Amino acid sequence: MAATPPNELVSVGEVLISAEELQKKVSELGAQVSRDYAGKDLVMVGVLRGAVVFIADLLRNLTVPCEIDFMAVSSYGSSRDSSGVVRILKDLDDSIEGRDVLIVEDIVDSGLTLNYLIRNLQARDPASLEVCTLLTKPERRRVDVPIRYTGFEIPNEFVVGYGLDFGQRYRNLDHVALLPEDAVPGR
Ligand code: 5GP
Repeated sequence: MAATPPNELVSVGEVLISAEELQKKVSELGAQVSRDYAGKDLVMVGVLRGAVVFIADLLRNLTVPCEIDFMAVSSYGSSRDSSGVVRILKDLDDSIEGRDVLIVEDIVDSGLTLNYLIRNLQARDPASLEVCTLLTKPERRRVDVPIRYTGFEIPNEFVVGYGLDFGQRYRNLDHVALLPEDAVPGR
């Protein structure tokens, strides 16, 4: 008999947020964003790579016209802690001047990456600039950042799945899971 192939969709650790909870929340966020951006000129800016799954689902829950663009930044100094020094690895393809920009993040941890992104994008004179994040870890915040839409507040734990990785793995999980203690970086 052929060996069963390894299945990444089997959770690595405890399930923190199930696929059903994620889909319900994303549809609520999509409805809110659709209400708030009716008649506006919405551009969603996804932050690579972690926000890819979230932005794809959010997009399908919007009922208003919307464009998407992406930025890639490197934010982690060590394996776990942001240094606050952010490097742009990929910039937006299009100008956001005069447009209604919504930054779409996977997770806000210290807030340092988002703080940098907000300053950077604000300098390009958008008509408005707001933030939507799937996850936030309020306990870890080092800088206060304005977040208009939040999916879930989570405890100070390292999570993977639904776009979030550990060593580039686990992004394909349809849920958010905790990593087992011994695998957590920096612990
Ligand atoms: P911040 O600058 O807010 O400290 O870090 C934000 C970035 O750190 C996120 O976009 C994400 O790439 C990474 N990050 C923070 N916490 C976690 C976590 O629990 N799991 C994963 N996979 N990445 C995290």
